[in-house]
Amino acid sequence: MPNMKETRIIRIDPRHIAPHLIQQAAAVLRAGGLVAFPTETVYGLGANALDAEAVADIFTAKGRPAHDPLIVHLAEARWLARVVRFVPTLAWELAEHFWPGPLTLVLPRGSQVPLSVTAGGDTVAVRVPADPVALELIQLANLPIAAPSANRFGRLSPTCAEDVLADLAGRIDLVLAAGATRVGVESTVLSLVTPVPTILRPGGVSREALSAVLGEVAFRMKPVENGETAHSPGTLSQHYAPAARLILYQGQGTTLLRAMRQEAMRQHASGKRVGLFLAQEDLPFFSGLPLILRAAGPLARLDLVAQSLFPTLRALDRAAVDLILARDFGIAGLGLALRDRLTRAAGGRVVHVEGSLAKSTCGD
Ligand code: AMP
Ligand code: MG
Repeated sequence: MPNMKETRIIRIDPRHIAPHLIQQAAAVLRAGGLVAFPTETVYGLGANALDAEAVADIFTAKGRPAHDPLIVHLAEARWLARVVRFVPTLAWELAEHFWPGPLTLVLPRGSQVPLSVTAGGDTVAVRVPADPVALELIQLANLPIAAPSANRFGRLSPTCAEDVLADLAGRIDLVLAAGATRVGVESTVLSLVTPVPTILRPGGVSREALSAVLGEVAFRMKPVENGETAHSPGTLSQHYAPAARLILYQGQGTTLLRAMRQEAMRQHASGKRVGLFLAQEDLPFFSGLPLILRAAGPLARLDLVAQSLFPTLRALDRAAVDLILARDFGIAGLGLALRDRLTRAAGGRVVHVEGSLAKSTCGD
């Protein structure tokens, strides 16, 4: 447990950003402190990426294991030279298309970047966030800022300042509070040090959008903490997890919903308080049943579903459910990122509904 400190809160109106307020946060970063700030994806917990002690404080505040590397945030693509040993042409092209934005590039680490940022590795993950408060902060600090999501390790990512405080009050110096985040899921992590550009974590930039620029893109889930790959659901580490146990349901149409309803009612009958994480269209199928229903958004608007993914899971936690059954949203566009987060929230408990049969891929 780190020494408790007073966490200051500075409220920012994102439509009228007052530079003198951001300047105070920039000064904290320059002095080696920890500042939580909004990005377009989720709130980040920032520290000077070139200061090994400040970076160590991030890991302590979050309770994050040292072998999980951090993303370094830059104010503009030209800053790549400050943290990267060698910038391939492809990186400049991707920056042109997607920055500022929710795309993180994995590149050769520059020697200025402490090994604690990269978990001892020779690559560094970098991006330019598309949030005016974040950009102003990084610009004024005039430093590359290492920033993982501003939550305790393994917990749900924060999409507003209140979420940050719920996890980190007393552990960090300052929070810039500027309302809810727009994208709602973390950035896509793309490695450019592999022979073919490889998605290590799906996120705010879709695989399709990357393919349109790159042609070939490979997809590999990031290695999980124990060093195994996350292909097999049972080996996934629990991450982005609500307090309640969550089970992800994959499948099609009403067959999927019927399987979820059947299991929800079975669990209810055994005395459990059951929450359902749904699409808007699913609600009528469950109406009138003694279940806690939460819709994240319409199936045709996965951007809205992504935006309310973490808030909806938090709402289910607040409703004190014992169990959450979550529906899958396919793999098109943001669906892939949603599937990744929900699979991790489920700790790998995924049920594949085929035809009229439900098959569990893992013991639970
Ligand atoms: P977070 O900042 O909490 O969204 O997590 C950052 C994630 O970025 C890590 O968990 C990794 O999945 C990924 N990442 C960061 N640095 C690297 C790197 N050098 N190589 C591969 N993946 C990385
Ligand atoms: Mg995180």
